[in-house]
Amino acid sequence: MDEDARFAAARERMVADQIAGRGISDAAVLRAMRLVPRQHFVPESERPYAYDDTPLPIPAHQTISQPYVVAYMIAALGLGPDDRVLEVGAGSGYAAAVLSRIVGEVYTVERHPELVDYARARLAALGYDNVHVHQGDGTRGWPEHAPYDGIIVAAGGPAVPESLRAQMAVGGRLVMPVGRSRQQQHLVRVTRRAEGGMREEKLAPVAFVPLIGDEGW
Ligand code: SAH
Repeated sequence: MDEDARFAAARERMVADQIAGRGISDAAVLRAMRLVPRQHFVPESERPYAYDDTPLPIPAHQTISQPYVVAYMIAALGLGPDDRVLEVGAGSGYAAAVLSRIVGEVYTVERHPELVDYARARLAALGYDNVHVHQGDGTRGWPEHAPYDGIIVAAGGPAVPESLRAQMAVGGRLVMPVGRSRQQQHLVRVTRRAEGGMREEKLAPVAFVPLIGDEGW
């Protein structure tokens, strides 16, 4: 078997065991996880572990999230093909690539210039041309393209930034790790209700890298 075929087989196993096997049933999420080659989003030295059940190191002391966590957060947003999504924390670009196979347009903000280049290079090489990467403080969102049907925050902060709440469409959802400490958070889902106000739900306990910025740590 050549290398691509081996990675494809490992990816099928990952989806079966780690994602579908743990109860994620959203067909669009499963399909997207089957399509995106995670080995191209991790550094060369981590490629053998690309489909392991774990986060992995990427440049600037950041991490590419565990595949299950990526699938869980995206499934929690309940997205459809015409949706527009904002991601805070592009990192490697992997989650943005997965999102791009599910929705119409993906806008992703990353604070580290080194990772902006890293994510852009990979997304361009693989042809994910409905993903737009911006360098800046994602706690402020990306107001030019708001409102968003879904917002996914890939780093943990002390509270949901007001700027992100303000950029949610009516009926839109936001998923973010929120916690008082920089080490431990709970995933929180916020829904902007059509009748006004926000619904907030606490999902699972998680551990993410910190969200650094004006409305973060
Ligand atoms: N979604 C990424 C995981 C990235 S880890 C992937 O699939 O690889 C979280 C990322 O959030 C890191 O790259 C970190 O630099 C970034 N980050 C932290 N605070 C941020 C902020 N205020 N704005 C934008 N990005 C931020």
